[in-house]
Amino acid sequence: MKKIVYSGILVSVLLLGCQNEEDAQKDVNDQEQIVEDNEDIAQDEKPEESPAKNEEIDGDIDKEINQSEKEEEIEEDVPVNGTQTEDGLTVVPDPNSIDVIVNKQRKLPDGYEPTDLVEPNVDFYAEEGDPKRLIRKVAATALEELFQAAETEGLDLIAVSGYRSYDRQKVIYENNVATNGQEHADKYSAKPGTSEHQTGLTMDVASAALVSVLEPSFIQTDEGKWLADNAHRFGFVIRYPEGKEAITGYSYEPWHIRYVGKDVAKEVYEANLTLEEFFGLYP
Ligand SMILES: [Zn+2]
Repeated sequence: MKKIVYSGILVSVLLLGCQNEEDAQKDVNDQEQIVEDNEDIAQDEKPEESPAKNEEIDGDIDKEINQSEKEEEIEEDVPVNGTQTEDGLTVVPDPNSIDVIVNKQRKLPDGYEPTDLVEPNVDFYAEEGDPKRLIRKVAATALEELFQAAETEGLDLIAVSGYRSYDRQKVIYENNVATNGQEHADKYSAKPGTSEHQTGLTMDVASAALVSVLEPSFIQTDEGKWLADNAHRFGFVIRYPEGKEAITGYSYEPWHIRYVGKDVAKEVYEANLTLEEFFGLYP
């Protein structure tokens, strides 16, 4: 896989003059006929829309979170909310919890890999043996129930991308740094440990008829609408809702579902919250 990513990036850069990893990654996807969402792709696809605004938003988030963390450190010797790294990220204290929150400020411990990854019995776009078919056991069972419920309503979902390892994200990130420089990489590429796909609690889901469309237009399909209205019944939330980019750090991704259990999912759905808001991680 690494070879494929490398060669895809190389080919993209040489032949197409791509200036960033996300485009290169898309080319890789095109070549392999494999579709996945890379959270960063979503942001990089339309950088011309409002890059300045996004920068400001990101800056505000960083500033505010750093302040609140400093206050906590003053009040308590033991960080209640994770340990701080040199680059200003918080290492989550509970990587195995189904409540774990990973985002651009909160990362998993280096090299973290869930111990209970399994392949759910659902339709997949990725080929057999691909780690993208893996998800944690508790989420796999829930995903199977979700897919079965959709099928009984005549809908045709397909699972596209689940688990993504630390090493794979590291390769993607480091290639971006090597190709485009640190500043660009930090802006558009998830640092290793900060992709929610590494938790094993996430799956990208598409309409089987439109499997190449991991785009906001997924919400216009019957499958996308059903997923938005029903994912919570099976313990999943739409992790990056529309209009919440300033809180989640990511553009709307109606295809990216995250397992949190039925109780949390129901509350988050009914109150129209992000996980950051629900768990009090957004000031
Ligand atoms: Zn995703």
